[in-house]
Amino acid sequence: MAKIKRVRTKPCSRCNETNDVLYRVRIEEDGDWIFVCPTCLGKVKPDNPHYQYGGTWKSKKRH
Ligand SMILES: [Zn+2]
Repeated sequence: MAKIKRVRTKPCSRCNETNDVLYRVRIEEDGDWIFVCPTCLGKVKPDNPHYQYGGTWKSKKRH
């Protein structure tokens, strides 16, 4: 019996594409933390005074 590997992925809050790597960011003043893919990060980050970086999320955890 084959083991089913559960791949943990999250969808990007902006484009809803799942990605292996997402960035936890805040883009609104007092807004919620959201997860965005690298592509969307490049769109929301520039000229955003409320941009805050909260870490990188990866589906594959390194030990
Ligand atoms: Zn995205």
